Amino acid sequence: MKNNSSPLYGGIEGGGTKFVCAVGTGPNNIQAEVRFQTTSPEETMAQAVDFFKQQEAAFGKLASIGFGSFGPLDPNPDSPTYGYILPTPKPGWTNANVVGMLRNHFDIPIIFDTDVNAAALGEWQWGKGQGLGTFIYLTIGTGIGGGAYVEGKLLHGLVHPEMGHIPLPHDKSKDPFEGVCPFHGDCLEGLASGLSIEKRWGRRGASLEVDHPAWDLEAEYIASALATFSYTISPERIILGGGVGQLPHLLPRIQQRTQKLINGYIKSAAILENIETYITHPGLGNRSGVLGALAVAKQAAPDG
Ligand code: ZN
Repeated sequence: MKNNSSPLYGGIEGGGTKFVCAVGTGPNNIQAEVRFQTTSPEETMAQAVDFFKQQEAAFGKLASIGFGSFGPLDPNPDSPTYGYILPTPKPGWTNANVVGMLRNHFDIPIIFDTDVNAAALGEWQWGKGQGLGTFIYLTIGTGIGGGAYVEGKLLHGLVHPEMGHIPLPHDKSKDPFEGVCPFHGDCLEGLASGLSIEKRWGRRGASLEVDHPAWDLEAEYIASALATFSYTISPERIILGGGVGQLPHLLPRIQQRTQKLINGYIKSAAILENIETYITHPGLGNRSGVLGALAVAKQAAPDG
């Protein structure tokens, strides 16, 4: 089963609990895929290396590898710590040179970015970001993170955006919960992540009834953040992914609440009339991350 004319790309979706690796060219052409638990950096990256080595034996040399990882991380190719995970509460991963661990085995372009920037690029290439110049992809799961595609390219800036850690209005008489962020307590991730829902209510979000008070509170916090992002980045669309972000009953509450908070100030039909398409679920569903990593690889390859 040798590869034909078009080159294959490697993609890594590096999550805090699991890694997904794939080889292919896009949603309709995945030649192989594997998922495994995130353990130590050495063991986890060795599994990724083994997978890509096996695929190269079957299909020939890959054109490039795109790696979208949990952060914080250093995505700046000119920095001495490019390819490193930066200080993180995740045991063993602080200052792990994860790109170096790949580079020891593969002499091809390896592009490193945040999992959410990669997912944004995947949505731009094949999903709900198609044709847009500026939009954001926000994942709300165990944690919260956002990627931004701004005027035709992924936004990095000083390091990379940290949309999950913006401060939020927090009315402690209504919600006395202190928040779960180890750095800030009651930032967006501290108040609205899947972990915060579980800690606040003593039950996992997936087990809470649709009419549980958790969801109006959740919609309020998310809407507050989305209003902030609408004002600051001026996205043409906001794509909400992740296990909590993709709950069907939550989306209409978030849409209505965001529209209310903005209160007509942004004079655009996208928000005033079409909030259902302004804030939307990903076109690629749960596949934005791994397909996004392939999109990152594709952009980096010489003929990609
Ligand atoms: Zn925080």
